[in-house]
Amino acid sequence: MRKTVAFSSRSANVFFHILTRCNLHCRHCYINPEQHGSRTLDIDTIEKWLALFAERHAQANVIFLGGEPTMHPELAQAVRSARSLAYGSVTIDTNGYLFHDILDRVTPKEVDFFSFSLDGPNPSVNDPLRGKGSFEKCTAGIAAAKARGFAISLIYTVSQANIDHLSAMPPLLESLGIDRFFIQVIGVRGQWRADAEKCETLAQVDRKTWVAVVPDVAERAARRGIPTIFPRVFLDPGEPFECAGKVADNYFIFPNGRVYRCPLCEDYPMHSLEIRDNRLVETPRINETDLFPLTIPEGCVMNRIIQPRNLPAADDGPPPFKIACCMLKEEIAP
Ligand code: SF4
Ligand code: SF4
Repeated sequence: MRKTVAFSSRSANVFFHILTRCNLHCRHCYINPEQHGSRTLDIDTIEKWLALFAERHAQANVIFLGGEPTMHPELAQAVRSARSLAYGSVTIDTNGYLFHDILDRVTPKEVDFFSFSLDGPNPSVNDPLRGKGSFEKCTAGIAAAKARGFAISLIYTVSQANIDHLSAMPPLLESLGIDRFFIQVIGVRGQWRADAEKCETLAQVDRKTWVAVVPDVAERAARRGIPTIFPRVFLDPGEPFECAGKVADNYFIFPNGRVYRCPLCEDYPMHSLEIRDNRLVETPRINETDLFPLTIPEGCVMNRIIQPRNLPAADDGPPPFKIACCMLKEEIAP
């Protein structure tokens, strides 16, 4: 079975942002050039940085991201380098525009998954979030990739703006021939955090709605033969809580050399590692790793600090639920 990014304990994933440029301007874009840089890494640097993480973790999954990674003219070479370094799997995340004829320059043997992002089951839901024409372009890209024999995953980022339309996704996934479906919760990060109107319309959904909608849609997609991965987000007080910062090895690498272990920290200089002169070095304390061991009744400490909107107040006794780690997810197999 083909591998791709794994959201489980003991997994190792290298999320490699090889550039931050993008042709789209999604309303919820998490890229923050002030924090991540605006450099496009040259192929020599990409290969050196890939080697750093291959050495640290044999068989890690590498996910090429941007910005839009297919805007990098040497992405195909980066894929081949990752293959030769024996990464466990190679995934390309894309908004579907597939620049530089990437489908003709890599093969299904080299790329385990093309992972497309779509945030609605039709243009009227997706395009206001991701850009005019992006639904049509993305679904055409999926069809072109399928026709060449690539395995396809699809990511749907859930917010208040599109939760009501998630239930329409399973038949669309089936008709597009999607091989894996990832439901993800919107992260309140990126430059749009400063925009009060966007914060209101793109807010995370509340517990009652999430629990009523998301697991059911995941089940229905799985019944159509599509393995579906989704975050629990809200845990009951008695359920075990784990922080991926402690039990998994995730690396979010940005073109300015910052390497985060937790994606929620990406708007802040809290990264625990940095690449300097093509060497991986630890950053001075205090950084994100000092926060992972903190045990709080609300679960994820970074949610408590950075995006507390959905958290119950624990000031007057135990909270009614806790927030799960966004990097540890459930999978429903067909
Ligand atoms: S496709 Fe990705 S990088 Fe580009 S604007 Fe959208 S979220 Fe940002
Ligand atoms: S999201 Fe929370 S629980 Fe997950 S790695 Fe970050 S701090 Fe840990």
